[in-house]
Amino acid sequence: MKVLKFGGTSVGSPERMHRVAELVTQSSEPKIVVLSAVSGTTNTLVQIGKALQLKQVDEANRLTTDLKEHYNSFCLGLLAEKSARKESKAILESHFEILSAIIQNPFSADAEKEILAQGELLSTKLFTAYLKSQGMPAVLLPALEFMRIDANQEPDEAFTQERLKALLDQYSDTKLFITQGYICLNSQNQIDNLQRGGSDYTASLIGAAVKAEEIQIWTDIDGMHNNDPRIVKRTFRIDRLSFDEAAELAYFGAKILHPFTIRPAQRANIPVRLLNTMDAQAPGTLISDHQEDRPITAVAAKDGITAIKIKSSRMLLAYGFLRKVFEVFEKYKTSIDLITTSEVGISLTIDDQQYLSDILQELETYGQVEVDSNHTIVCVVGNMPFQKVGVLKKIVDAIDDIPIRMLSYGGSRFNISLLIDNQYKVETLNRLNEHIFTFPNQ
Ligand code: ADP
Ligand code: ASP
Ligand code: MG
Repeated sequence: MKVLKFGGTSVGSPERMHRVAELVTQSSEPKIVVLSAVSGTTNTLVQIGKALQLKQVDEANRLTTDLKEHYNSFCLGLLAEKSARKESKAILESHFEILSAIIQNPFSADAEKEILAQGELLSTKLFTAYLKSQGMPAVLLPALEFMRIDANQEPDEAFTQERLKALLDQYSDTKLFITQGYICLNSQNQIDNLQRGGSDYTASLIGAAVKAEEIQIWTDIDGMHNNDPRIVKRTFRIDRLSFDEAAELAYFGAKILHPFTIRPAQRANIPVRLLNTMDAQAPGTLISDHQEDRPITAVAAKDGITAIKIKSSRMLLAYGFLRKVFEVFEKYKTSIDLITTSEVGISLTIDDQQYLSDILQELETYGQVEVDSNHTIVCVVGNMPFQKVGVLKKIVDAIDDIPIRMLSYGGSRFNISLLIDNQYKVETLNRLNEHIFTFPNQ
């Protein structure tokens, strides 16, 4: 069994959906195909939720009507046959009725999540209808029947494994399954999701659950690049990445992968291949347990970082002080990314500001607290054991006039992270691009 995930752009137009159908029916090997929402849909659904929250019901209705219009013409391009068009009309009616009904009621967090789920429900149903119309039958597996997160927002992998097996056993002759990325149920049995970009994570969780031979992430670029192609002009594709390198890059901002995608695949030792829907023959990037002997592989950046410094000359070296500090973050379920310490202070970063004021209030009982928001973590990833001298110098030399707020080295041999003010991000990524990489064919 292989798991193939197609992102929003890959199913973003009727022609692209036709292309995905071709790709997934080329061979008869068993597959589970995970689809995102048609590109732009989740953003519109987010806007509908926001309008509802602001009690702008007219705006929510307008956005919904426009979205329905978009899907009406999408279906005309997708499906030619009369019966298939009729089926797609019924699909649109049922999901847009759900949206309209939600909009008539007051906003709630649960309602918002139900709104967000409509994108993947629509794309998978329309795609399955298209396959059927082409005489390529596939079984639609409802993600809400096997994908669940627990009270800590962590995927319930045992549940997924058990439920998926039971579902797949019902269709022992079927080779092609379609399912929704991103959506799941939560511990209250309500509709929830795996956070923006979460379809990658769905694919990896399914891959691990069915012990797939490979997980393929099909997207709009030819694989993982050495730097963020949205920011830096001259980037290049990386052939092979280790799970550790890919996990660091995804977690620290390489948008091609949802931050947690690699963990389930790595635990189950299932290779992950990043492929380009628009250029299916291109080799892509293979992520596996193989580690290349390459000191610097790629760089990624994660925005929206808050730095917190706690200064306490009296307490820092006293045993138990760090525990007290960390307990504050644990209490507010806020994870820490970078940490550096000195004799009189500790600096750390968080990206979730939901409980920032409570956290700060409690930290103030331990010392003097300073906060800097709007920072960016720039993460250089590669195979750099400390014995390999010169890597750090190369990085620091490349950005020698950019103020570095924190520097984290030695936490893992795969990662050196720098904290900078967000205003220096573009400059930093470009300078690193020019100075720390050996471009292929040069
Ligand atoms: P999908 O909709 O298929 O999930 P995404 O937009 O989430 O696609 O991810 C693909 C995009 O990730 C690319 O178009 C690219 O702009 C961006 N990206 C950011 N960093 C990297 C990187 N290091 N390598 C490749 N793509 C990257
Ligand atoms: N549709 C969701 C989003 O846009 C999930 C995904 O595309 O992976 O975030
Ligand atoms: Mg994505």
